[in-house]
This record gives sequence, structure tokens and C-alpha cells, in this order.
Amino acid sequence: NRTRYGFIGLGQMGQHMAKHIYNNLEPTDRLYVYDTNDKAANTFVDSVTSTKADTNHQLKALKLIPEFITDVEPQLDFIITMVPEGKHVKGVISDLVETYKLTNPPRLELGKGITFIDSSTIDIPTSVDVHRYVRSELPHFDFIDAPVSGGTAGARRATLSFMLSRANQEAVSEPLRKLLGYMGKNIFPCGSKHGVGLAAKLSNNYLLAVTNLAVADSFQLANSFGLDLKEYAKLVSVLTGKSWASVDNCPIPGVYPKEMKLPADDNYEGGFVTKLTRKDLVLATECAKANNRFLYLGDIGRHWYDRACDRPQYANRDLGVLYEWLGHLEVD
Ligand code: NAD
Repeated sequence: NRTRYGFIGLGQMGQHMAKHIYNNLEPTDRLYVYDTNDKAANTFVDSVTSTKADTNHQLKALKLIPEFITDVEPQLDFIITMVPEGKHVKGVISDLVETYKLTNPPRLELGKGITFIDSSTIDIPTSVDVHRYVRSELPHFDFIDAPVSGGTAGARRATLSFMLSRANQEAVSEPLRKLLGYMGKNIFPCGSKHGVGLAAKLSNNYLLAVTNLAVADSFQLANSFGLDLKEYAKLVSVLTGKSWASVDNCPIPGVYPKEMKLPADDNYEGGFVTKLTRKDLVLATECAKANNRFLYLGDIGRHWYDRACDRPQYANRDLGVLYEWLGHLEVD
């Protein structure tokens, strides 16, 4: 039973996810990887083979997307995409589908198709369009949205949570469960429609973005009254203001033991950066509009995230840095 995996997008998240697949390969399995940035692909290959030598020639970095179809025989079982935006997912998938149609015309309807698993966080209408396109061009292929939560730390530790569309608990196939299990510890089947995985991800990240802003505001309020912020943080952790943003990612340095490695204790380095929080908030508000739903805190939240992201020192650091930013902000 050999399984062939493809992985596209070896950035902050993808490099760790693909590494876990590589480390779990059975001797007959293969992994093919690609990134538009050659350096990312080369660094990936060097780093994973330095800890586990590729004695069975199981890993190959490809130079072009069509090579996932033309270079691999028999064809791949799964291709995971972990790229920035919807336009990248659309481009990659249409390259793969069009190459398959050109190189395999006589057996288009035959055999087992490739399952594309998109773990990028993108807008729902694009994801639904890509799904329809794949199914109409190649009915035996599949495209599912399976976005992740857990950040780069979760990717590194293989503790990601996958939010899976078109799946009920019992409908997740064993090979798919096994593959996602290499990279994560939770699989949440979100329902039978396409796009529901992204709906869960964006609804959650909307909540994260607005609570994070409220936490920054709340700590600045406490500060303005002269409260000891470490004590206030401990208080919040047992009161009704408790949330991931106020406790697990507490923005005040020195509250929790160093071993917890909170970004606030490392000058807000690492973690989930503000500009990605903004990106998900924008996606959530736009997808809400497309769904005739108005997010009451969406536009106001966006206004403040836009302003924070004007400055690279806030845009590129963990979202807890909004606490520091609000402390310096002069409101007009
Ligand atoms: P990243 O920018 O670090 O990595 C993206 C990689 O994709 C880069 O190496 C880039 O060169 C490559 N790429 C871009 N276009 C490509 C294409 N057409 N073909 C092949 N490769 C291409 O981004 P990231 O932080 O790894 O995030 C990837 C996705 O996962 C995004 O949608 C992001 O919102 C989502 N996400 C990120 C986090 C996080 O904490 N970073 C958490 C959950 C979800």
C-alpha cells in the first residue's frame, strides 16, 4: 500500500507540516514538494534530510507545478496546499487540473483521482468556485477545504486542529485521517457542504481578532487606573474576562512562567502576527457580507487593525503587541 503525497507552499506553516509527513513516510510512500521560492524548497529539503537521511529516495522537490502530474507515476493520492491567498490556490489547482487534462485525456474518467486538501486560510467564495471547477473538469478528483488553527507553534509540534468540510465524523476516510494525524491532533468535521471548514475557521478568527483588541483596551484601561498589570492579568484569568487572548496569549510580559514561551515574554516575537489577524478579520467581514450577514464589530475592528498594520513593528509581531501599540497611540 503505497501513498504518494504532494505539498505546495513551504512557508512558516507548510515547512513544518511537510516535515511531519516526511518523518512519517512508510518505506514505499513518497513526498513531492514545491514552492515558488526555490530557496524555501531547497532549505526545506536540506533541513529535513539533515535529521532523517533520504536513503529510500522518498522526497523530491519539484521545479514547476505541472510536474506534480507529469513527473509522478502512478499519480499522487493527496496534494496539500498551504499558500497565502485565494488567488494562489486558484492558480495552483488550475495548473494541476489543466496539466492532468492535457496529459491524460484517454483516462480522464477512470481510476482514483487526486484529493486536493487546501489548508490555507482563504475566502469562501473562491474556495467554493475552485471546488466546483475541479468537480466539473475531473469528477473523480476532489477538493476540500481543511484550514488549520494552532499557528506556527502548532505546526512545529504537530498539534494543529483541522476544520474539515464535507465530512461528518464517520465520513473522514482512514487515509485522510492518517495524513492529517501526522500534522495535527484534532480533526473537526464541520458538515457536509463545501466551505464549512473555512466558515468555522473565519468565524473563530473573527472572535479572536475582536477579543484581542478588547483585551489590549482592557489592560490599557487598568493601567490608566494605576493597577498592577501582572496582578490584573491573574485576576482576569479567573474572572469573566478570561479568553485565549487574555490568558493563553496574555499581552503583559512576566505574568506566566518562562517555559510557557508566551510571545509577550519575547518582545512579541513569534506567535500569530497582527497582519495575519487582520487578514482573517478582513476575510471574515467580506465573507459575512457575501452571506448577507453584517458583523457588528467587523468594520470597527478592521479600522483599528488597519491602523496598527500601518507600522511594520506592530504588523509583523504577535497580535498581543496591540496592547503596546494602544499605549502609544494618540487618538485624533
Ligand atoms: P507564508 O507566507 O510563510 O508561506 C506561504 C508559502 O507559499 C511561501 O513560501 C510562498 O513562497 C509560497 N507560495 C506562494 N504562492 C505560491 C504558489 N503559487 N505556488 C507555490 N508556493 C507558493 O504563509 P504561512 O504563514 O505559512 O501561511 C500559509 C497559509 O496558512 C495562509 O493562508 C495563512 O493565512 C494560513 N495560516 C497561517 C497561520 C500562521 O500562524 N502563520 C496559521 C493558520 C493558518
